[in-house]
Amino acid sequence: MPIATTNPATGQLLKSYDPMSAEQIDAAIDRADVAFRDLHGTTLAQRAQWMNAAADLLDAERDSTARLMTTEMGKTYVAAQAEVTKCATACRFYAANAERMLADEPADAGAVKARRAFVRYQPIGPVLAVMPWNFPLWQVMRFAAPALMAGNTGLLKHASNVPQTALYLEELFRRAGFPEGAFTTLLVGSEAVDRILSDPRVRAATLTGSEGAGRSIGQIAGRELKKTVLELGGSDPFVVMPSADLDRAAEVATTARCQNNGQSCIAAKRFIVHTDAFDAFAEKFAANMSALRVGDPMDENTDVGPLASEGGRDEIHAQVQDAVDHGATVLCGGEKPVGAGWFYPPTVVTDLNPQMRMWSEEVFGPVAGLFRVSSYEEAIEVANGTAFGLGSNAWTTDPQEQERFAVDLDAGSVFINGMTTSYPELPFGGVKNSGYGRELSALGMREFCNTKTVWVG
Ligand code: NDP
Repeated sequence: MPIATTNPATGQLLKSYDPMSAEQIDAAIDRADVAFRDLHGTTLAQRAQWMNAAADLLDAERDSTARLMTTEMGKTYVAAQAEVTKCATACRFYAANAERMLADEPADAGAVKARRAFVRYQPIGPVLAVMPWNFPLWQVMRFAAPALMAGNTGLLKHASNVPQTALYLEELFRRAGFPEGAFTTLLVGSEAVDRILSDPRVRAATLTGSEGAGRSIGQIAGRELKKTVLELGGSDPFVVMPSADLDRAAEVATTARCQNNGQSCIAAKRFIVHTDAFDAFAEKFAANMSALRVGDPMDENTDVGPLASEGGRDEIHAQVQDAVDHGATVLCGGEKPVGAGWFYPPTVVTDLNPQMRMWSEEVFGPVAGLFRVSSYEEAIEVANGTAFGLGSNAWTTDPQEQERFAVDLDAGSVFINGMTTSYPELPFGGVKNSGYGRELSALGMREFCNTKTVWVG
């Protein structure tokens, strides 16, 4: 992929970059390695001060940063503003809580009595972050804020279509006061990842991206014996039971499917509805989806902007076409618009069966699959019936059913009567082909720490 900004609303190429040379990559890794020793020697209070300064810069530059993201990947300007604010909140959260998260934990040495035993969390060194374009600031921040607070340094290989946001992030941390090399953007294509992760100075990697990228990075890291956190795709279920508030469920379902123009790993993608609620839910949901305004992402009245790439739009249209060819019914949308920009209408497809791609594949755009089930057990079977296990949603007011869903849904998170969202305070990640490891919360911060046992006799 060329490293370039192309406006998805117009298809116009705005700016392109040459990939960094092998020498430039080597020098950047060296700076990250040197900066690690500097950063490790700083106090948490100092790092918190820099992290709070980054938050202040984000707040002050919210609108220009939001415009940049909208121009690079097409999310609505309103959503982009919210993303910048969320990043500032996360910076402040880790600045305020890192000390607690990294504090020594007293341990009981058991039969082999020690005068003192405890667990200490120490940073491990430069970490490579391979990141996607869909939340170009937030995906990076949820790695960078805890990692820098822990004393690690970051090397960012961002998606090739968001180079300006990637460069902004490097500048942000530098201007906030972090030492030169603490956070570096590498303008490189994915083919450079092997060489970077194989470098002995790079200690670990985190990836948010597709299953294919996960397998590739997992293989390299396995060969090099390096820790990885993988946040991969999802095809999250959104189960609606008869006791649910259907108006509210249909409203949240629409947001959960179409937020970020439908391009979120934790978007609800498969809507699994009990037959007693199916017709009423389907009518409300299709009406809500049809009512969304698709258009210029800079217009504050727009709900759904363009997809980030032409290839991405072709892919979801092919998935819809495949379902139709195999007998599915389109309740709304499903037509690829003509004209400039990579727009796609909010679409609801039902009468799905396992022969269709939409049954098992992730659909990365504003297209919902609607499934009818006749019992709780069948809902669980369909919900768990994909290779993914990232987030999940269940709508029911029955307390016993709520408990059962929390246990039975095979996913990294279960949201009852709400939509899956990432919060700095809560761990985030998946099971099965959605990856492993956790981001956010104390667990996310400690993923890239040496959990050191100290025993004093
Ligand atoms: P990709 O996996 O294509 O890209 C993500 C990043 O990985 C980019 O920086 C990309 O670089 C890089 N990359 C791609 N292939 C390789 C490879 N073989 N080796 C090393 N690096 C690679 O995903 P998309 O950009 O298409 O993003 C959408 C996918 O990401 C969806 O499946 C989605 O569900 C998932 N995702 C998961 C999230 C989560 O938190 N679990 C959140 C957001 C998205 P380049 O751009 O240069 O190709």
